[in-house]
Amino acid sequence: KFNFYAGPSTLPLPVLEELQAELVDYKGMGLSLVETSHRSKEYDEVHNGAISKVKSLLGLPDNYKVMFIQGGATMQFSMIPMNLLGPGKTSNFINSGAWAKKAIADAKIYGDVEVLYDGKDTNYTTLPDPSSVKTTPSAEYLHITSNETIGGIQWKSFPKTEAPLIADMSSDIMSRPLPVEDFGMIYAGAQKNLGPSGVTLVIMRDDLIAKANQNLGAYLKYATHADSDSLYNTPPVFSIYALGKVLTWIESQGGLAGIEKKNREKAQVVYNAIEAAGGFYKSPVDSAVRSDMNIVFTLADSQLDKEFLAGTAELGMLGLKGHRSVGGFRASLYNAMPLEGAKALAQYMADFAKKHG
Ligand code: PLP
Repeated sequence: KFNFYAGPSTLPLPVLEELQAELVDYKGMGLSLVETSHRSKEYDEVHNGAISKVKSLLGLPDNYKVMFIQGGATMQFSMIPMNLLGPGKTSNFINSGAWAKKAIADAKIYGDVEVLYDGKDTNYTTLPDPSSVKTTPSAEYLHITSNETIGGIQWKSFPKTEAPLIADMSSDIMSRPLPVEDFGMIYAGAQKNLGPSGVTLVIMRDDLIAKANQNLGAYLKYATHADSDSLYNTPPVFSIYALGKVLTWIESQGGLAGIEKKNREKAQVVYNAIEAAGGFYKSPVDSAVRSDMNIVFTLADSQLDKEFLAGTAELGMLGLKGHRSVGGFRASLYNAMPLEGAKALAQYMADFAKKHG
């Protein structure tokens, strides 16, 4: 079956097979890795191996820390302002859609929020030109959402800003090379491009960790995780173990440049199918910022929606129903979706349009 769900996403098959083979007895220990101490030599290798792979895949400079934190990307919506805002302190945000709105709502609890660009007038179908984005003098940071999973829009390049740039990359992390030095912080829930849910990858520049509010409970302080290499408490061992394997798989695909090429090709196949059907399908988003990860489309005749969806399910294509807030359809093509999945969908779209057009 092809998994087009927006999340959690498909894991690469070789990763699932390795996990299956190792789950009961990890490398002859007579225990599963998830049963052993998180202070063991075996887990230490897995844990630090995953951190090293994040660094090498992204080409992270030494002044960035890689952290594994629980609570999902959603907890980062609170943890960022708890650490970097406070009464009288200001943040800048780009309101690009559903996920940005959630981040904004939580930041407002802890400090001031100035929205530099609000996509409301265009129903969140486009993004500002990165070169036009200027942070305000008092801003502690600018927060963006690199890929709006529900709206289907994605920054193709990033603003270079005076204030540190923070990006929620939950739905496109490790899908393409990044100019990491332009960011103060990057974070992503693992469950789309990195592995099973349960861990959030947080990458943060040292100066931001150092200036963060220290008057917080231990788990809520970035410094706690940075200083303990994310071993302050029991980490989500299985999720980090799987994440490490997914990163090894990404390396085997030619790293981020290789994976980007494949992602582009998959997205192109589906966008071409939308365009080739002569108005039968519609993409609501600005083509300059359409997402390579989440392709949102509608049928010109929504009376055919049910039939369209039933046909995809019959062919083993799962999860294509659009988000309840947007309607229509959404094809999520994360890293592990093979090109054959995109091609199968495109073929079905062409056949369906022919039958009903
Ligand atoms: N941000 C984006 C862009 C997302 O797509 C999601 C989940 O789909 C989240 C945040 C929330 O992530 P989590 O479920 O890990 O809290």
